[in-house]
Amino acid sequence: MDEHPYMFLHPCNPEAAAFCNCLDLTPLWLGREVWHNPVHCLVCGKPVPPEDVPVPESLIGSLSQWSRIYSALVEMYLDIDGYELWAASELHDIHSRINQEGLRLREMLSDQRPCFFWYVRPR
Ligand SMILES: [Zn+2]
Repeated sequence: MDEHPYMFLHPCNPEAAAFCNCLDLTPLWLGREVWHNPVHCLVCGKPVPPEDVPVPESLIGSLSQWSRIYSALVEMYLDIDGYELWAASELHDIHSRINQEGLRLREMLSDQRPCFFWYVRPR
């Protein structure tokens, strides 16, 4: 299928995302969101549908809020023309609010499956 030239300016379509199809309950990692989903499979690297984890309903709000902010910081970090130094200071500091919240969420997801956290290390 050809990619539409305006695909990155269109609303996200979850049906278009490739999800994890691993047969086993693989370990997870928490990181930059793909199609609004920050929970990935450690084996194939693809997003794991939240209902397959399953993400506890009590975590949905805080996980989605963390995901939006974390992913925005990663976008700024990758922008080499203005925001990258500020975003790097947040992402590289393991004690920053975004990393501490990510570690807290990782811990809570680990009740479902082993879960790791994508920490952006200083170079
Ligand atoms: Zn997988």
